Amino acid sequence: MNIAHLLRRSALLHAHRPALLHGDQVLWTYGTLAARTAALAAHLRTRCGVAPGDRVAIYAANAPEYLEALHAILWAGAVSVPVNYKLHAKELAYVLSDSGARVVLTSETLAPAVREAGAPHDAVLVFGSEAYRAAVAHTPMDVCDRVPHDVASLFYTSGTTGRPKGVMQTHRNLLAMTACYFTDVDDVQPGDAMVYAAPMSHGAGLYNYAQVLRGERHVVPLSGGFEPAELVQLAASVGQLTLFAAPTMVHRLVDHVRATGADVSGFKTIVYGGGPMYADDLRNALAVMGNRFVQIYGQGESPMTITALQRAQLADHNHPRWAERMVSVGVAQSLVEVRVVDATGQPLPTGETGEVVVRGDTVMPGYWNNPTATAQTLRDGWLYTGDMGALDADGFLTLKDRSKDVIISGGSNIYPREVEEVLLMHPLVREVAVVGQRDAEWGEVVVAFLVSGEGGAVDDAVLDALCLEHIARFKRPKEYRWVEGLPKNSYGKVLKTALRGDAG
Ligand code: AMP
Repeated sequence: MNIAHLLRRSALLHAHRPALLHGDQVLWTYGTLAARTAALAAHLRTRCGVAPGDRVAIYAANAPEYLEALHAILWAGAVSVPVNYKLHAKELAYVLSDSGARVVLTSETLAPAVREAGAPHDAVLVFGSEAYRAAVAHTPMDVCDRVPHDVASLFYTSGTTGRPKGVMQTHRNLLAMTACYFTDVDDVQPGDAMVYAAPMSHGAGLYNYAQVLRGERHVVPLSGGFEPAELVQLAASVGQLTLFAAPTMVHRLVDHVRATGADVSGFKTIVYGGGPMYADDLRNALAVMGNRFVQIYGQGESPMTITALQRAQLADHNHPRWAERMVSVGVAQSLVEVRVVDATGQPLPTGETGEVVVRGDTVMPGYWNNPTATAQTLRDGWLYTGDMGALDADGFLTLKDRSKDVIISGGSNIYPREVEEVLLMHPLVREVAVVGQRDAEWGEVVVAFLVSGEGGAVDDAVLDALCLEHIARFKRPKEYRWVEGLPKNSYGKVLKTALRGDAG
């Protein structure tokens, strides 16, 4: 069980099939992709001193080289560390040091940030550089031997303490996730293409394995990201297009299609997840783009694989509980068990809300170098997701709230505590609580409630500057509200639900 075998197998079976497209142009076949991957793997091992089990980071926006970089790390027996390219240099520095990454693969535009984050010059390999061209032409190596419980990837997820935690994803986890793609999400058929509109460092990138397994096409948009008009054009020229999208992206794509009347027959499947999809938005999406949607619910700790709401279930309008199912996240995927439990870990009766827990082959063995967080999250063989939900009699799960208070804005997770800590650095900010406010464009936006010290309110611009100095741009509040005091319970804990009510 070695996830790197998927590419080798497809290169043997389908060497001449197109593998990677940049826009609608084919760059590499499966034979070429595997040859470049095997060469880059050999370069990492022999020239960069990477040993099996060593960590190698990728800090890049979506680019044609992303896929071969990811597979080369696995082919070499190393551990991939995909880092969100929108992270602030300080956050990147933390991930690089915590993971102990030996090498960072990056793009030309991001290379200065990698160096600023403290990576030694000879540990940085820049896509498209002369050194990179030499690396993908190196004498190739065969796939390094790995066993199922070896770690394949470290996926950094922000913790409620503000420090990101490295989720260890093993080869078994990623292969079980891939198997569930076929059983619970979608089939991959001849001529299909997966387009990477969402960041490859996150869920979209994880879905590459199903496509590699079947030897079908991967498409990196020329924009490197999510542009509705470009996607519509790619659907027409490439065809049989599947994408993973955050609910906010679905919303924007649907608006574009409705406004332009574009032909959507080139879209095969739109898998959405990563944050709540509002019922109105889903109804619109189905009305405008048809029966092309599948929802998944997952988290880094059980990547992409907790529940799924399938195409057929969304299309089953005549079902007496269709309206409830539409706002659910579907049923447990085939290789996992899902329960809703009370504070003592006891399963709750149908319909009652508690914490969602998961068990199965997709569940991580723990957090990297963080036994305390691992012990809090993995208990008696179950993953405690931190999400609150309720199961109905048919096994459909509805998420009620995210107990961790994560704000999901434009598909990116924002942990309030991290923002609060920065705002509290200002001497005139005495207390602060950061919450998400529902927003038509972004899903949610960040709103900060502040209580001033002696000197009265501080200018928004000053607080913005403070945030920009310490955290990624997308995490800073869109609005600052000065209040007399924060609502608190009898233990003195801030009642964020009350603030969200105020904000919403
Ligand atoms: P991450 O580990 O960054 O992928 O974030 C995972 C979190 O996103 C989950 O624990 C949920 O709180 C939220 N999430 C993921 N998928 C869904 C979904 N389909 N509906 C609502 N929330 C979701």
